[in-house]
Amino acid sequence: MSIIMDGEALSLKMQDEMKQQLKSCMIRPSVAVIQVGDDPASNSYIKRKEKACNAVGVYFRHYKFDADTPELSIINKIKELNNDDYVNGILVQLPLPERYNEKRIANSISNSKDVDGLTDINTGRMINGRKTLVPCTPLGVMRILEEYEIELVGKHVVIVGRGKLVGKPLATLMLAADATVTVCHSKTTNLAEITKQADVLVCAVGSPKMITADMVREGAVVIDVGVNRVDGKLCGDVDFDKVSKKASYITPVPKGVGPMTVAMLLENIVTCYNNKPVAK
Ligand code: NAP
Repeated sequence: MSIIMDGEALSLKMQDEMKQQLKSCMIRPSVAVIQVGDDPASNSYIKRKEKACNAVGVYFRHYKFDADTPELSIINKIKELNNDDYVNGILVQLPLPERYNEKRIANSISNSKDVDGLTDINTGRMINGRKTLVPCTPLGVMRILEEYEIELVGKHVVIVGRGKLVGKPLATLMLAADATVTVCHSKTTNLAEITKQADVLVCAVGSPKMITADMVREGAVVIDVGVNRVDGKLCGDVDFDKVSKKASYITPVPKGVGPMTVAMLLENIVTCYNNKPVAK
């Protein structure tokens, strides 16, 4: 039976530390969240972020636009927030409705306020190993591995999924941690042959229970990033009940990577507030 990596407990511990740290601040850090449309999953993610911000003392501003708002109006709001000294971090809740150009909108966020780490400049800085704002979910994965003292140097890390929010940036962070990295995607052939070689297997696809026990090496560390709803219940990309009998460590869904994403978002907001990084 594996050790269950408790992302929720770690996230709450980190939030507690941040709360103490922010108590002495004269002006509270603040984040602006831009939402376009009324996607129920986005509503629920935003609520969770708002709750965590309130809990640690980060001021939360929520700008919700109708799904037919012109793209330019959204970009103009972002530009206004870029110039607002009382806003430390800005994020656009993804996905946006299809008609919008996500890249153009993300790139209109000032690099120094880009708490999701998604502008081209911040992505390039991360790839080049420069200090910068990094996407929250991959950061959360690295943080939970660190907490459980999982060795990465020289280990074979297999990441299933090459999305811009998780798979791609995580591959960069894993390489920086001296792991040997394989990234799989929808065109990968013989997926199971590759996943079976993983010392650390990360799945970020969005396909319920696609990682079955026969795809996992005995004793592997398994990180499940996927969030799926099946019959009204949340589950990950990993068949948790069966895989947990084989893995040495495993993250559950819920209460695994999800809460870590929120904790790392708060950390990125505090980083912006402290004005530490980044290219202008
Ligand atoms: P995404 O950008 O759509 O990426 C999904 C990736 O999965 C793509 O690279 C796709 O390959 C790959 N894929 C699809 N079917 C596959 C298959 N049969 N075999 C192997 N690879 C396959 O999604 P994302 O934003 O990275 O999110 C992935 C999952 O993580 C979703 O469930 C999302 O809800 C979840 N998520 C969770 C958190 C959290 O905090 N827990 C945060 C972000 C995302 P191609 O590139 O070839 O299309």
